[in-house]
Amino acid sequence: MIENKEVFIPKYMKSFKCIGPICEDTCCAGWSIPIDRETYLKYNQLIEKENNIFKGKLELVNVENNMNYARTLTKEKDKCAFLNEDKLCDIQCKYGEEFLSSTCYHYPRVYNIVDGIYEKSATLSCPEAARLILLQKEEFEFVEDEEEISDNFNVKRIYDSLEYETDSIENAFFWEIRSAIINIFNSDKGKLSEKISLSRFYINKLKSKWDNNNHYDEIESFLEGMNDLDFKNQISLISNNTHKHIEYEKIISFLRELSDCSAANLRLKEKVNEILKVKNDIQNYENKLKDSEYDYIYKNLIINSIFMSLYPLNSYDDILIGLNKILEKYYLFKAVASLYRESKFENEIIEFIQVFYKSYEHNVEFNKFYEEKISKLM
Ligand code: SF4
Repeated sequence: MIENKEVFIPKYMKSFKCIGPICEDTCCAGWSIPIDRETYLKYNQLIEKENNIFKGKLELVNVENNMNYARTLTKEKDKCAFLNEDKLCDIQCKYGEEFLSSTCYHYPRVYNIVDGIYEKSATLSCPEAARLILLQKEEFEFVEDEEEISDNFNVKRIYDSLEYETDSIENAFFWEIRSAIINIFNSDKGKLSEKISLSRFYINKLKSKWDNNNHYDEIESFLEGMNDLDFKNQISLISNNTHKHIEYEKIISFLRELSDCSAANLRLKEKVNEILKVKNDIQNYENKLKDSEYDYIYKNLIINSIFMSLYPLNSYDDILIGLNKILEKYYLFKAVASLYRESKFENEIIEFIQVFYKSYEHNVEFNKFYEEKISKLM
């Protein structure tokens, strides 16, 4: 059944369109695509009739799991077995996009449902989405929209605040904390490093107010105050504006390990090897870390992650750890960008972020590798 639903989206989603055959890193390559049960059964019925399209291209994964019931097999260069020589999907060409699995139909869109409202954003593993998200130079805006949504639908997370006891600050003040932190990063004043310090400062304050059993209305008015103060006033609240970065030796050794990691996709390894070959020396690396010319890229990355991961509900049981998990990607990408010798490297860093996310989001082994290594970098 298809229904018209209201959706809350970042504005860039209104312009997103798959660029299909001209895509430099099609989503049909580099990972095995999950096939939901309904789609698998539909394809299975056609195996005899459409032998050349379907035979030997699907594998059962977990018959207990409706969304991850089967997966596509890959052929040479890790490409989906359904991708033809014109870089088009055989299933879509023959049967139309309605016939695609839920993952293929919706990718790179990610849906959450929060208190009955659909929220849609896009993952950075798609090159076209990555460009739209990261190249925004103005405010990162959100808008309301309408969309036809079918029930064959892969929702990442459903959150209903009424179902939860307000026993944790993230449940009690989810909306308020998320929008206050997004507002800090969206401010057109101040440097990104100051916004990071300020957001940590407020999150620490909120944690201690919660731990000290402050009244709800007191925390509520504190959160309202976060939105009302102007940036200059807010930044003056921070006495110790310390800003971290990843040390030169550590980022080099991380990239070497990444280059040897069997779970990293080929494009990511190529990018890493190019960087290692012509990298900056330590002096230039440290100078470049101070350069804020491309900080809008990281600001967009941070806001997109806050929105998509439903921060502060992003499952770390501590609102500061949850924020730090989002920020650690910023430190990583800023360090990688500071190794580039060129002064104009906007496209390179966007490509690096995109290929990184392709492994990070679609390969469990790579995800484990990253989680293990990143803690040693920070
Ligand atoms: S990665 Fe994005 S732009 Fe490329 S084919 Fe897939 S959806 Fe389209």
